[in-house]
Amino acid sequence: MSRVVVTGGAGFLGSHLCEAYLARGAEVLCLDNFLTGTPENVAHLAPNPGFRLVRSDVTDYVHVGGPVDVVLHFASPASPIDYLNLPIETLKVGSIGTLHALGLARDKGARFVLASTSEVYGDPRVHPQPESYWGHVNPVGPRGVYDEAKRFAEAVALAYRNTHGVDTAIARIFNTFGPRMRPNDGRAIPTFIRQALRGEPVTVAGDGSQTRSVCFVDDLVGGVLALADSGEAGPVNLGNPHELSVLDLARWIVELCGSTSEVVFVERPVDDPTVRRPDTTLAHERLGWSPSVGIEDGLRRTIGWFRSHPELV
Ligand code: NAD
Repeated sequence: MSRVVVTGGAGFLGSHLCEAYLARGAEVLCLDNFLTGTPENVAHLAPNPGFRLVRSDVTDYVHVGGPVDVVLHFASPASPIDYLNLPIETLKVGSIGTLHALGLARDKGARFVLASTSEVYGDPRVHPQPESYWGHVNPVGPRGVYDEAKRFAEAVALAYRNTHGVDTAIARIFNTFGPRMRPNDGRAIPTFIRQALRGEPVTVAGDGSQTRSVCFVDDLVGGVLALADSGEAGPVNLGNPHELSVLDLARWIVELCGSTSEVVFVERPVDDPTVRRPDTTLAHERLGWSPSVGIEDGLRRTIGWFRSHPELV
């Protein structure tokens, strides 16, 4: 049986990863300071004897007794609203937190997987984005705190691999959605769902022609597990190449919610990427992974989850 440490395990993606490893029969230690996540996300896992949740800030230190086979470093504010409100925390968890998580993997001889992001590509000049593209990032723009934290995290993961022989992997995760997203985290899909379910105007940034490629969480979790199981160092893009405009996404969600909400246009955030689509050839070739959940199916499942949590809407 393997033992897995998930930093940020009480967050959106982390909670699904904890669930997936427990379902495989692994022991899971979830480390989280509840900065943007909540113990409620993993409360259903508490009865499982293989699961342990420890409140800890990985920028202070990371100490784990006993053997560890895999370290999944997912701790970090991830939505633009969160990292703009928490710029120093975001930079610290991407830098100091990553060093501590790598230190743990080094001590234990564990496989290490970094949750990096498509934001390392910035507002890209190459479309779709392959892993070989270096990106177009503004380090002193408002999003620099997140983008540069993740770029540093990638660099330090590789340095630990080359210098200390740590078995590291870098996942470049593209926009992912699903149950347990927070309705007020500012990301497009939960915002549109909340607005549509409340019958309020659905707020599209700019003219809505900017594109996103969105991946259902079950697919993303499958990709992270495939990467962790492999010997690949990455970076590997994980996401769904199905690209659509933000305006089409808003209209689709209104329709699936059976809502009468109108679409209104609001100011576009600074440095908001114009296009975003993963080139997933590498993940397909090296990991045998590609997303399989259709966007409509994923949206229906996410809307269903929000409906079953009316207190959040
Ligand atoms: P989230 O905010 O739901 O989860 C992040 C978790 O990290 C939270 O539970 C938070 O409390 C915890 N955390 C933050 N700082 C911490 C610290 N110092 N010590 C311990 N715990 C800390 O966000 P998410 O969407 O689940 O994202 C998880 C990871 O995946 C992040 O690293 C993010 O950058 C990356 N990612 C997510 C997406 C996406 O679409 N969701 C896309 C690209 C990358």
